[in-house]
Amino acid sequence: MTVLDVVAAENKTIVKPLEGKVAIVTGGSRGIGAAIARELADKGAHVAINYQSRSDAADEVIKDIEENEGSAIAVKADVSNSQDIADLIEEVKNKYGKIDILVNNAGITRDRTFRRLSEEEWNEVINVNLNSVYNTTSAVINHMLEQKSGRVINISSIIGQAGGFGQTNYAAAKAGMIGFTKSLALETARNGITVNAVCPGFIGTEMVQAMPEDVLSKVVAKVPMQRLGTPEEIAEAVVFLAQADYITGQTINVNGGLYM
Ligand code: NAP
Repeated sequence: MTVLDVVAAENKTIVKPLEGKVAIVTGGSRGIGAAIARELADKGAHVAINYQSRSDAADEVIKDIEENEGSAIAVKADVSNSQDIADLIEEVKNKYGKIDILVNNAGITRDRTFRRLSEEEWNEVINVNLNSVYNTTSAVINHMLEQKSGRVINISSIIGQAGGFGQTNYAAAKAGMIGFTKSLALETARNGITVNAVCPGFIGTEMVQAMPEDVLSKVVAKVPMQRLGTPEEIAEAVVFLAQADYITGQTINVNGGLYM
């Protein structure tokens, strides 16, 4: 609970700092994206939850949000497909009339040492994790420039900063997101748009739970805080950036001290 929440509770009014804002969360149906969607909705935003295949998971997040008196819709789209994304953006604009916050969260891993990595595995990860950021951002940026406000928040990774064994494809995509973030931040700062990245460390989602148990326990042992992060801890950083006016081009590390 933030100080604002406490003050609001004491005054018996509910302050919703993102009231009336419209947010899109790619890959918002599971893991970190689902936590981001819930948290944005909790702060008052209308949230479009993008997913690719698991509509049941997206529906579950919407149910939670609605039970909490929030507002959300689910939109199926493959982030690596520019036409799907153009359609998604149109659907959200038609429904809510604007877009204020874009969270580029959808991502996959296809881990393999570079010698064994296929061209298909390389391309798949670059397309879903990095070309997706081009697809979504290019589809909303003119709209944000016209309204002279916007937040683009890219979920990168500690692996994009420190590298990862068997993760050349993933590290390249995630490092690419950071360079993209800084460059677009420079180009749009004077137009009321902020562009930032969040770099999670190891977070307890299906993506990380897919790691072999012995590898995962070695990773956790290296984390100064000695535990995995939670999706909610990433969502807190996103909601903070969604409200911050004077922060742009930054990379916020949420990693338990694993990379400083
Ligand atoms: P996750 O649990 O595997 O969830 C992935 C989400 O992305 C799902 O909602 C999935 O939807 C969606 N998705 C995958 N491919 C998609 C596509 N082509 N088009 C649209 N949606 C797609 O992953 P996570 O752990 O929450 O990770 C979320 C983000 O954080 C990723 O970018 C990841 O790289 C990054 N990250 C995660 C960690 C970690 O420790 N977990 C650490 C650093 C960074 P469907 O279920 O419908 O396919």
